[in-house]
Parts: sequence; structure tokens; C-alpha cells
Amino acid sequence: MQKVILITGGSRGIGAATAMLAAEKGYAVVVNYLRSEEAAHEIVNNINKQGRKAIAIRADVSVENAVIDLFKRIDAELGSVDVLVNNAGILETQMRVDEMDAARINRIMTANVLSCFLCSKEAIRRMSTKYGGRGGSIINVSSVAARTGSPNEYVDYAASKGAVDSFTLGLAKEVAAEGIRVNGVRPGFIYTDIHASGGEPGRVDRLRDSIPMKRGGYPSEIAEAIVWLASEGASYTSGTFIDAAGGR
Ligand code: NAP
Repeated sequence: MQKVILITGGSRGIGAATAMLAAEKGYAVVVNYLRSEEAAHEIVNNINKQGRKAIAIRADVSVENAVIDLFKRIDAELGSVDVLVNNAGILETQMRVDEMDAARINRIMTANVLSCFLCSKEAIRRMSTKYGGRGGSIINVSSVAARTGSPNEYVDYAASKGAVDSFTLGLAKEVAAEGIRVNGVRPGFIYTDIHASGGEPGRVDRLRDSIPMKRGGYPSEIAEAIVWLASEGASYTSGTFIDAAGGR
């Protein structure tokens, strides 16, 4: 039976690369998006052109009812989700903690942390053997920032990824005996649009020399780690992390 993978924030960057690779590996792919409708449909069209199955579904994954509706639509259109990739994430303009207001910090935590809880809850209710499911895999896209703290740039973002890592550790243990594996991928500096939203589109190139491999990473290199963790090849791997960060 064809496995179903949901990639939150699959319209651009790392999520889009993961959608393309997952389709190549034989998954039916759900490309979730929030604003980038055209980009999401382009990914879906590319996958469909290769004779593979994909659909795009708009949903704000930080809103509970939207997440519930997202999973119901997937149930109806493709069947129950086998793999969830909690990839959707945001950062905001670079600033120090003493300049941040509560609204900004809440936006970051809601988009990056609450979304993982909400989507995982719906996934577990379908995957867990406790609920009659056939098991599954959850991959949380964290960041090397969880380890470095991103001083003078976005400590709020780094802290949200620290929370994603704790969430990964705890959830992995909670559902390990129910057929669900939960792991994290921590990318380093990857060439995507996210840096422009932090106010510095050229950030990866500025920081290139601080990376042991002396180069930024590409979304496809993160997709490889995510899709491996989803696969049967990772059948005994849970509660752990792959740092895909050029040696950082
Ligand atoms: P990106 O190019 O800015 O793409 C972000 C994606 O998330 C978009 O598809 C966006 O959808 C989606 N999204 C954001 N908020 C959403 C929401 N509330 N509901 C649904 N979708 C939402 O970012 P990226 O660099 O690929 O980042 C992907 C993940 O990797 C993030 O979790 C990020 O923190 C992490 N990461 C990235 C880097 C890096 O250097 N790029 C490093 C470490 C970790 P729309 O465009 O449709 O709104």
C-alpha cells in the first residue's frame, strides 16, 4: 500500500525539496502551505507530471481547528497519514532579546512549537497502535540554533527550536511502544528564503566561513536526512537527531 506523507510548509525551501524526494521514493505526498498557493501547486504539478500522487492543502498549522480539518481532508483524499514532517517554521527580523515584544515571541512559539504539538496529536491518533493504527514516523525539523542560541539574531527562534528538541525526546519515548518513531533533523545554514524574512537574504554566504565545510547547505541535503528517518532503514532509530550542518 502506498504510504502517505504530510509535509507542513511544503510549498518552499526544505519542505518543497522533501516533498519532491518523498514522491521519488514512492510516497503519496501532501504539500501543506499557508500563503504560497502558487508555489505549492507548482510542486504538486511537478510531482504529478512524474506520474506520482500529490495534493496541496492550505492550512495554518498553528491553529487547532485548521489542523483538525487538514487531517480530515487527508483521510478523505489519500487515507491516513503514515509520516508527518513538522517542517513549517518562521523567524523574524534580527534583534536582541531586550528589543523583542511579547507579540513577536508568541508568533515564533506558535508557528514553530505549537504547530508541532497540534499536528503530532492528530497524527498519533491515526498512527498509534493504541488507536488501531499501523504505526508511523514523525520528523521534527529543528535547527542547529537549538544548540548555538543565535545571539544578537533571534534567540526567540533558537529557543523555539530548543523546545522542538525537548518535544522530540519526550514524544519519542511516549509513543515508542505504539509503533511510532519520532526524530529530529537540525539543519545548519541552508539556502532558502527564510533568511530574507530575518532581514538578511545573504546570511548564508556571510556565515559560510564559520562552517567547517566552508559552504552553505541545500534544501535537498536536508530532505535526504528527513526521508531517511521516515524510511524503514531507520526502523530502530527514535528519539534522536541528525545534525545536517556542514560539520557545525
Ligand atoms: P522557508 O523557505 O521560509 O519556508 C517556510 C515554509 O513554512 C513555507 O512553506 C511556509 O508556507 C511554511 N509555513 C510557515 N508558517 C506556516 C504555518 N503557520 N502554517 C503552514 N505553513 C507555514 O523556510 P525553510 O528554510 O525551508 O525552513 C523550513 C524549516 O527548516 C523551518 O522549520 C526552519 O526553522 C528550519 N530551518 C531552516 C534553516 C535554514 O537555514 N533555512 C536552518 C535551520 C532550520 P507559505 O510560504 O505557504 O506561507
